[in-house]
Amino acid sequence: MSHKVLMLPGDHVGPEIVAEADKLLRCLASEFGLAVELEYANLGGCGVDAEGAPLPDSTLALARDSDAALLGAVGGPEWDYIERDKRPERGLLAIRAALGLFANLRPALLDPELVNASSLRPEVVSGLDILIVRELTGGIYFGQPRGIRTRADGVREGFNTLVYGVDEIERIGRAGFEAARRRDGRLCSVDKANVLESSELWREVMEGLAGEYPDVSLSHMYVDNAAMQLVRDPRQFDVMVTGNLFGDVLSDCAAMLTGSIGMLPSASLDETGRGLYEPVHGSAPDISGQGIANPLATLLSVAMLLRFSLDEGELAQRVERAVARVLADGLRTADLGGGQGQSVGTAAMGDAVVAAL
Ligand code: ATP
Ligand code: MG
Repeated sequence: MSHKVLMLPGDHVGPEIVAEADKLLRCLASEFGLAVELEYANLGGCGVDAEGAPLPDSTLALARDSDAALLGAVGGPEWDYIERDKRPERGLLAIRAALGLFANLRPALLDPELVNASSLRPEVVSGLDILIVRELTGGIYFGQPRGIRTRADGVREGFNTLVYGVDEIERIGRAGFEAARRRDGRLCSVDKANVLESSELWREVMEGLAGEYPDVSLSHMYVDNAAMQLVRDPRQFDVMVTGNLFGDVLSDCAAMLTGSIGMLPSASLDETGRGLYEPVHGSAPDISGQGIANPLATLLSVAMLLRFSLDEGELAQRVERAVARVLADGLRTADLGGGQGQSVGTAAMGDAVVAAL
């Protein structure tokens, strides 16, 4: 049976980089027997312009009917001043919520060719390969009650609620254990259990799950220490699992350890393995239309899509090796310091990866 993949190019550089993913998937289909059908739909600013909503109903229906979706990026200055509900980013939040994508997986992998892009010294980061598993649909970003109110003394205050149910902790915990099992077998759960009750429960649930994963070694770390350790000695980590807010901050921090925003893929998964895959970077309006965006984060997102939603781990590795190969051959888009290697644009980089397959 053929896998269905929904392509969501989005805005600005989105369509440019998704075009390279399209080439890659078609090559995998014609040369390596991948059974895949590609559909296209609007998400983000393009949805607002063409169909009046950042997440058109037709897009959501197609997403529900697909095994996975690949997103370029959404947003741009032209949609900054429209009403809140029509902002492109709303479309992204809405599709994540509608599909129940609760687990956000963000690898931070430093290619040996790019050690000098990192803000840390090579002896601290070379060989860096960590994965952050972030809870995406709960915690303080969604907890009720929330709001801005006026106190009895007339002073305004803003408030949010950090709440996690055992069910929510268990399912993200399992995603963390499963990921660690597929990798180096080490899982670090990050919380603030010395201060927060929600973290106390978080830690208790993680400990409870540990018995089911005897092949994974579980450790715990307070989030403040985790931030420090990520910058001091990031290679001590294999997989980190954490809540929505802590994960938001730590995953951006980990991403920057690699120094290459154009290289970082991500996955957001539901319980069944359906997922939305996208580069970590945004729509880069400052460079769109020039054909110079780095497509590798998107091509590495295709590798994650193959691994997690289509169960095609071998093809995923093949894509990752092809990306490593073009870097080793010296090909560089402008963001990777195009000048030093062989400077290439978006399409040439995509073609090179396809050739390296
Ligand atoms: P968002 O709010 O959507 O995350 P942002 O403003 O944080 O967007 P990006 O759109 O990721 O940021 O862009 C940040 C910088 O990185 C910009 O200068 C952009 O040109 C550059 N950049 C982002 N993605 C790429 C890419 N694929 N290739 C080259 N440069 C990129
Ligand atoms: Mg950003």
